[in-house]
Amino acid sequence: MNQIDFSLNIAHLYPDLLNIYGDFGNILAFKNRCLWRGIEINVEEIKAGHRINPDEFDFYFIGGGQDIEQYMASEELLKNKERLKKAAENNVPMLAICGGYQLFGHYYRISKEKNLDGISILDCYTTAGNKRLIGNISGVCSYLTKDDVDNTVVGFENHSGLTYIKGDTKPFLKVIKGFGNNGKDKTEGARYKNVFGTYLHGPLLPKNPVFCDYLISLALKRKYKCNIPLVELADTVEEKAHEACLKIAGK
Ligand code: GLN
Repeated sequence: MNQIDFSLNIAHLYPDLLNIYGDFGNILAFKNRCLWRGIEINVEEIKAGHRINPDEFDFYFIGGGQDIEQYMASEELLKNKERLKKAAENNVPMLAICGGYQLFGHYYRISKEKNLDGISILDCYTTAGNKRLIGNISGVCSYLTKDDVDNTVVGFENHSGLTYIKGDTKPFLKVIKGFGNNGKDKTEGARYKNVFGTYLHGPLLPKNPVFCDYLISLALKRKYKCNIPLVELADTVEEKAHEACLKIAGK
């Protein structure tokens, strides 16, 4: 069965600045899991200088990068801050990975002298730590609650920033194995409304098809104002990848 009456517009924020560890694979997974169901997809790459129209997009994605690229991305994000906040308040799903995640919070303090302002969609802040938190990571996602569904999420983290969340912003995952936001409080990532920030590269969505479908469902529900059950996909390879990563990270 095709879901041909539906279409989604994706904004890929600053792919030329923030795209490491194959973060682009997240766009491919989101896009293909829609196309396989007959859902039409348009992807627009948002580059420096682009003024975002918040009513135009149904899903926003931003990848990770090193501090130097984050400087440039921070400047560009700040120019679109109010428009992106408007979209977030309107429940548009967004996924921000690692360096992008840090910039969706209030700030990333690199040192006493160097501070990068974020766009404060997520109520969190990041300070540079003195060691890298690196390795495979697994966690439990409480939103993926259906009985028959594996609600573990797996990925690979590599960051020195330590993130702390507060207020209405809640953790994305409870860490099973790995460091997560700061290596201490067992939280990983953040969620506010339909905006998700996470340190999980991997890329995240190909390894976690259940979470990818969750994002697609959120985007469809917001756009069409009703629940649209997704057509089941075979997912044999995806489930194998997920299981293999879970094994590497540890349950
Ligand atoms: N520069 C950031 C850190 O190390 C983000 C790195 C990344 O996106 N992988 O904390």
